[in-house]
Amino acid sequence: MYDIYDELGVKKLVNSAGTYTVVGGSKMSPEALEAMRQAAANHVSIREMQIAVHKKLAELTGNEAAVVTAGAIVGVYLSMAACVSRKFGKPLRYISKEDIASTEIIMFRAHRNPYDRGLELLGVKLVELGYPNNIDMITEEGLENAINDKTAGLLYLPSTNGGWVPPGALELDKTLAICKKYDVPVVVDAAAQLPPKKNLWYFTEELGAAAVCFSGGKDLKGPQTTGLMLGKKFLLDWVEVNNFPNYGIGRMHKVGREELAGIYVAVKQYVEHDEDARREYAENMVKTFVEAFGDDDVFRFERSYPNEAGQPLPRAKLIITKPGLSHETVCDMMLNLDRAIFSIVENGSLYVNPFCLNSEEAAYVLSVYKMINDKEKMR
Ligand SMILES: *Cc1c(COP(=O)(O)O)cnc(C)c1O
Repeated sequence: MYDIYDELGVKKLVNSAGTYTVVGGSKMSPEALEAMRQAAANHVSIREMQIAVHKKLAELTGNEAAVVTAGAIVGVYLSMAACVSRKFGKPLRYISKEDIASTEIIMFRAHRNPYDRGLELLGVKLVELGYPNNIDMITEEGLENAINDKTAGLLYLPSTNGGWVPPGALELDKTLAICKKYDVPVVVDAAAQLPPKKNLWYFTEELGAAAVCFSGGKDLKGPQTTGLMLGKKFLLDWVEVNNFPNYGIGRMHKVGREELAGIYVAVKQYVEHDEDARREYAENMVKTFVEAFGDDDVFRFERSYPNEAGQPLPRAKLIITKPGLSHETVCDMMLNLDRAIFSIVENGSLYVNPFCLNSEEAAYVLSVYKMINDKEKMR
């Protein structure tokens, strides 16, 4: 059978790590792929298609408005640009460089991350508050004092269940209360904060954030090059003003009709999927790994919860009982197999994450761990 990866000589990977962008995030469903194929087969007015998809996505997720972006971080960029546009009451392309440069966006230092470089491109002044630790905690008064007539918005990174966000920021509810008082829109970067699916409306409708940005290609299983921005009309209308297909900064972040169709079907399936059944599937897979090894083995697995992004799903954590055998070595062994397995050593530990594994792949991953275990036991 024809295989594009074989033709290109690119190695296929069984993904036991999770929705990492470096291996393509997640796999799309046949239904979402079919929607993309159908979308590609005809011309339509892109603006008409956007309006239709955005309206349905807002309805599906219980939000006032939705915009499909070229990834979560493009959503962050465009939503921050929308905060600037809103402040000056015009599209970004009519606002002078100097005016943009003097406009302030607030972020807590604890929330700075390698994704937020996009804000520098926008040219705004980033005002950083607090420290990425527990000393001299930022207070409500501290935030209040940082807000002035140059402030256009605040970008917030939630850390549900831990995840990789350090302490040191003001809690989201307190941040929202202060910002509301001064009419400062708060945008939440929740790129990887799915599941639970209730986060699709929790940050915006329940807590009152102006917008929230998710990755389309992580747990939503949409096209890898999409993002989903959800939230309030007052801000998302400004996003649309600066966005593709209009000329301006959004034009650099084109989203085609195929991606619009793909993310729409993916989100429709996501809001309908059975979260309990999925949790049970993940728990059972973890249990199989835990029960597969005994006291005289080199390997042992423990249930670990929550996962690396703080999502409420378990992983199986590898414990190596044999001195001298490192997690990195095991990781490399698996990557060098003919049928390669992708995993990541994270803070000195290796995990099997059920997120992207179907039952056949999970059985294969387990058989590989067994094989390495048996070989190492004999040595
Ligand atoms: C993955 C991630 C991003 C980037 O998402 P894209 O959809 O690839 O743009 C941004 N922020 C956080 C917190 C992420 O986890």
